[in-house]
Amino acid sequence: MSKTGSFIKELYCPKCSRVYSKDEIQHLCECGSPLLVRYDLERAKKELNKNDLIKRSPSLWRYKELLPVEDDENIVSLGEGFTPIIQLNAAGKKLGLSNLYLKDEGIIPTGTFKARGAAVGVSKAKELGVKTITMPTNGNAGAAWSIYSAKAGIQAVIVMPEDAAKITRNECKAAGADLYLVKGLISDAGKIVGRSIQKNGWYDASTLKEPYRIEGKKTMGLEIAEQFNWNVPDVILYPTGGGVGIIGIYKALKELQKIGWIGEKLPKLVAVQAAGCSPIVKAFNEKKTESEFHKDSKTVAFGINVPKALGDFLVLDAIYKTGGTAVSVTDEEILSSVTELAKLDGVFACPEGASLYAAIRKLKNEGFVHADDKIVLLNTGAGIKYPDTITSKTPYVELNATL
Ligand SMILES: *Cc1c(COP(=O)(O)O)cnc(C)c1O
Ligand SMILES: [Zn+2]
Repeated sequence: MSKTGSFIKELYCPKCSRVYSKDEIQHLCECGSPLLVRYDLERAKKELNKNDLIKRSPSLWRYKELLPVEDDENIVSLGEGFTPIIQLNAAGKKLGLSNLYLKDEGIIPTGTFKARGAAVGVSKAKELGVKTITMPTNGNAGAAWSIYSAKAGIQAVIVMPEDAAKITRNECKAAGADLYLVKGLISDAGKIVGRSIQKNGWYDASTLKEPYRIEGKKTMGLEIAEQFNWNVPDVILYPTGGGVGIIGIYKALKELQKIGWIGEKLPKLVAVQAAGCSPIVKAFNEKKTESEFHKDSKTVAFGINVPKALGDFLVLDAIYKTGGTAVSVTDEEILSSVTELAKLDGVFACPEGASLYAAIRKLKNEGFVHADDKIVLLNTGAGIKYPDTITSKTPYVELNATL
């Protein structure tokens, strides 16, 4: 076996500071909080050099010292990560923003950034000897974990709302997962998964109930820093459901600060939610540190339909600590943003990602961002995964017609 050189040290609770071993399967802290991974960053500071990265493969595994997998042979990879950051010239011009960028996760395996969490989460589950994983999902996570589990030789048991995008069902089934549909929301699916874990002893891969998905999503933050040559942008907008991505990006930036690769300044982190499911926005507006369950939540951007996130306090902390904000946008605004982004800059974003375009327009009008701020929209997935959501009417022509 060859070692990855991971600097993983232990797991810790961000709420009560209890510490847990990295060598055994861990889920939540005794106090109910998600656990986070702690690395030996002092050692990393001494032994790691950012120039070492230059020779490495363009995948998220280029940051293996800051990832939890310890043996190379446990790495389950389909080539995920190091997605491009492109400038939105036309959209920027229209909004009066001269440095508007989009990081495009639409081209990653499985078509959404859930592949990052799945790659690292499944790899670590393999390292810990897990045979069966289970999770509730709004679709994209289930698809990604099914695909990576197949590659790892792990059985996946997936429970999703019947309203979740059909394409994600087919991905789960194609990859050999056991798939169950429920009438209800992801929170209802979660209750069923909770009971099945008690009964069957499966590995709970629910959002933030295992500590490693966050480490995969963290790599978006590492990449943004590296791709901007370690001069972090002024603002990062993120479509927030469970909030794993925003928690991960914040964690990545703090780790980079500790090893000295970036300076004091952090980007303002902005959580964007759909008006039909905006518990984080409500909590932010009320200056609270936790959110309340958003009743009867509903939005076309199903990846961010999470009425109450387990890590809500970590999301809000990341927003407050970076001087960020939280914004909601309507489904109408989201859908018109999908087509506007595609027309202006050739980016066919998923509804979740497109919500950021509607949000940045609001933030510009309110004066939260300025004309020359360096701004990154994190497009979390491909528009082509949403054939039922993003539709348009097109006239037919007869074969002998001229146009
Ligand atoms: C899951 C998902 C999100 C939300 O991700 P979190 O990190 O859990 O907030 C956003 N966009 C898409 C496409 C998703 O699938
Ligand atoms: Zn705790």
